[in-house]
Amino acid sequence: MTQTLLDVRGVTRRFGGLTAVNGVDLSISEGELVSVIGPNGAGKSTLFNLITGLDTPDAGSVQFDGRDITGVRPEKLAALGLARTFQHGRVFGNLSVLDNVLIGAHARLRATRTGWPIIGAMAEVARALIGPASIRREDAALRDEVREIIAGFGERLTPRIDHPAHSLSYANRRRVEIARALALHPRILLLDEPTAGMNESETAEMLVLIQQLKARGLTILLIEHKLDMVMRLSDRVIVLDNGAKIAEGLPRDVRNDPRVIEAYLGHRNVGGAATMRVAA
Ligand code: ADP
Ligand code: MG
Repeated sequence: MTQTLLDVRGVTRRFGGLTAVNGVDLSISEGELVSVIGPNGAGKSTLFNLITGLDTPDAGSVQFDGRDITGVRPEKLAALGLARTFQHGRVFGNLSVLDNVLIGAHARLRATRTGWPIIGAMAEVARALIGPASIRREDAALRDEVREIIAGFGERLTPRIDHPAHSLSYANRRRVEIARALALHPRILLLDEPTAGMNESETAEMLVLIQQLKARGLTILLIEHKLDMVMRLSDRVIVLDNGAKIAEGLPRDVRNDPRVIEAYLGHRNVGGAATMRVAA
């Protein structure tokens, strides 16, 4: 029997009068790939924030590997093996590709040594205190490992390994962000619209990459707008609308669900309609 890795129960998040996430249940087993879809503003990114500790639910709970992680800080969660990427991509523009990914590997080492990884804002603080020189002095094994992760992105990143991240294309910056998340050796990877802003061939490459990660057994929670990606990749799909889960099931069943079609084709979301038609 497969083991439930992440179990989200009735999570709710209100912003003033708006309920951005409304009593959502979600569970994912080891090795599964579950997609979260829904119109813009449905609450998908907020749900990710609640799972990864960037935000705290007003109600409900999040369990990871059998332990309650509701409200636990992101640094701690990264140490436990939750890694994520952001809808709007977050890389350190003045650091090289290699150093950006090394941050992920460092965070993991810190976590195993001290229980305190360096990620996100903490990485910036750490960099200010100890400087990139110290990051560059990390042992060769770590750098080799990071090179290998970067090589997993084919010829996209390797030739640019010493380039500052700000000089990369948008698609390559998103790849760097995923590479950094992988350097954490996550047990679950949460990807928030990894193909946003990518053209057709870049999207096709991302599809292959995610397929490879899944084939390696990585558990993945994916927010994705491109329905053809969702249909090809997902074991299961969860549909959010106005903060609530309106459907869940196999990709093909969800796509034919009248509530889902209404959420995408309804007058509330014209942009979503175009996305739906691409896949139809
Ligand atoms: P999605 O990722 O599905 O497009 P979001 O989770 O980003 O949706 O947003 C869900 C709703 O919550 C939107 O109406 C958004 O404007 C609102 N929202 C998200 N974050 C905040 C916040 N920090 N403060 C106030 N409202 C927010
Ligand atoms: Mg979003």
